[in-house]
Amino acid sequence: MYTKKFTKQLNRITQALLSMTPAQREVVHQSITRSQSEVSINELIQPVFDHSPQCPHCHGAHIRKWGKSGETQRYKCVSCQKTFNNKTKTPLARLRKCSLWLEYTKCMVLKLTLREAADVCKINLRTSFLWRHRFLIAQSNNHSGKLSGIIEADEFFMAYSEKGAKKLSNNRAARRRGNDIDKRKRGQQVPVLLSVDRSNHIIDKVLSADTGVQIRENLSPYITENSVLCSDGAWAYVKVAKEQKCDHKRLINNKNRVIENIYHIQTVNGVISNLKAWINGKMKGVATKYLSHYLAWNRESYAKLNNQQILLAAYR
Ligand SMILES: [Zn+2]
Repeated sequence: MYTKKFTKQLNRITQALLSMTPAQREVVHQSITRSQSEVSINELIQPVFDHSPQCPHCHGAHIRKWGKSGETQRYKCVSCQKTFNNKTKTPLARLRKCSLWLEYTKCMVLKLTLREAADVCKINLRTSFLWRHRFLIAQSNNHSGKLSGIIEADEFFMAYSEKGAKKLSNNRAARRRGNDIDKRKRGQQVPVLLSVDRSNHIIDKVLSADTGVQIRENLSPYITENSVLCSDGAWAYVKVAKEQKCDHKRLINNKNRVIENIYHIQTVNGVISNLKAWINGKMKGVATKYLSHYLAWNRESYAKLNNQQILLAAYR
């Protein structure tokens, strides 16, 4: 039960918050988040492990506690006899200094560069690089849910990049494993499909080619039937709309930027231009093989995940 005094206070605070600009409210939100006491990594991930405890080696569910290694609980699998802890075979396995991870994911909320994050956490650049990619890999190709309502879709291109690779000798290049993207040559462009609905739910895919087939394969499964699809009118989108029984609004030329006051592709174009500005500007370009990691980071940012949620998303 609220006391009269509390209700009065609450009303006053609510009024004050409502009279603020969104930016001012964000400042309040951040200071509340900062004041909340930090949890340890184990407090964060143990409940996830306990939800469906299983052996990471054979997926057997019959496991026993098997002593501790420092603070970390170890387990032994009754079926395969192997031992493990709650991070074994996850992207967080064998990473050190876990007391700094939440500080690091705070830097990810702020979308800091490797060097900035390394300075904040007092770690070296190599560790900063390792952590960034371990914290993003689980989400890099993980799209959950479908887009619905008014959906905007468009493609864009990123320059192919081997940033960070050591000077490639011919031998080294020949040994490269990988998909179509890795076979691209310098100077080539990498097509990316990005689609967003008006709840800011984003689906993005690095395409192996900018073709109608690729667009359909990578977009159709994520469209809720009977939605409204807004596009630049390319035939691939016409087909996707038909397949998913969607109304299709074609924003074909510059004269026709908005249809019926609400149908446009300005949201998706905004997301794309912010993403390109961040990658090409602040990040000074990213290696194509890691592009899907940065797309995941961008989605986490649009979904406004906090540092704990980013770490939980990394633990899969
Ligand atoms: Zn096992």
